[in-house]
Amino acid sequence: MAECLFCAIVAGEIPATTVLETDRILAFRDINPQAPTHVLVIPKEHYPTVAALAAADAELLGEMITAAHRVAADEGVSETGYRVVFNTGPRAGQTVFHVHGHVLGGRLLAWPPG
Ligand code: 5GP
Ligand code: ZN
Repeated sequence: MAECLFCAIVAGEIPATTVLETDRILAFRDINPQAPTHVLVIPKEHYPTVAALAAADAELLGEMITAAHRVAADEGVSETGYRVVFNTGPRAGQTVFHVHGHVLGGRLLAWPPG
């Protein structure tokens, strides 16, 4: 079993509801959804934070954003609006240290966030 929760999902050791998969990206529904659309987009390769990914492989970060937009379009929220959130560090609510973008949509999203 992988030590990292999301590496375990990539390895198929923990089940997830996948909505999109490419050779380098996986997108699956959040287990505790905060909006009608709440999908996590991750690189299959392990990087702890978005900053670490950006420094190591900016192209892969671009693929994550492209995948997030495709998920939003598939979910029917790309026109009404959606948000991609990268919680970075414990004080911002990051609990899983395998970079993930939260794709949120399907309801009015407050700004600024709490
Ligand atoms: P973070 O708080 O690190 O930004 O986001 C982690 C997210 O992972 C949370 O929204 C949480 O609900 C989600 N999560 C935690 N464990 C699991 C799991 O086993 N499966 C899925 N699909 N999502 C999970
Ligand atoms: Zn990982």
